[in-house]
Amino acid sequence: MSRTPLVAGNWKMHGSTEMTAGLVAEIAAGAANLAGVEVLVCPPYPYLAQAVSLAGSVSVGAQDVCDQAGQGAYTGEVNGAMLKDIGCTHAIIGHSERRQFYGDSNELVAAKFIATQAAGLVPVLCIGEMLEERESGNTENVLAAQLDAVVQAAGIEAFADAVVAYEPVWAIGTGKTASPEQAQEVHAFIRGRLADKDATIAARLRILYGGSVKPGNASELFGCPDVDGGLIGGASLKSEDFLAICQAGAGA
Ligand code: PEP
Repeated sequence: MSRTPLVAGNWKMHGSTEMTAGLVAEIAAGAANLAGVEVLVCPPYPYLAQAVSLAGSVSVGAQDVCDQAGQGAYTGEVNGAMLKDIGCTHAIIGHSERRQFYGDSNELVAAKFIATQAAGLVPVLCIGEMLEERESGNTENVLAAQLDAVVQAAGIEAFADAVVAYEPVWAIGTGKTASPEQAQEVHAFIRGRLADKDATIAARLRILYGGSVKPGNASELFGCPDVDGGLIGGASLKSEDFLAICQAGAGA
């Protein structure tokens, strides 16, 4: 089963109109010369429309979305329809920083996943264990609970049009990366758990790795059979580094 790798940049809370203009233009120019990889950038909300206008063949996504599909009295929220309206194609859901700092429970993440798809966007569902969970041998239990909550709410069919990102929390922004063996082991577990429900959907699903991916380690990680690209934080803020990682995706 061949899956086109996806390399997605999560800018987190970094940006300005000046930075967006430079970074997106550089990434779009570089990505135009790459075949065999899809590239996605996810700036903060205020810069999404600007990014769309500059992105060329690069897709643009949001870093979060409201769990409510319709318009209404939800002050401060942005729904999927608004993101679709301005040209976004994806939304990151359940990033560990949302889960840790903003109370995104497994149930809320599942509702956001459903709302994202209802708007015609592709959810990039993030799951991952904390260091103490890994050290106490609970990695698979944590990932299963995060995954199952979405499968139960949305149905396995919903994964035909979704992306999963495995992001061990201990590797995000820390400079510590999962080894290719660790990443492959977890990715195979995720795919296997979904294959128990639908083998075809699981075989087609792209599962990204995220956590301190850099130009120097991307090829090795993306070379693992169940790793289909990456979700990139810090290194997505420098076009040269991000494009080198996209290049590694193209070569995987
Ligand atoms: C992320 O923000 O999802 C991430 C993986 O960050 P970093 O690449 O900086 O670890």
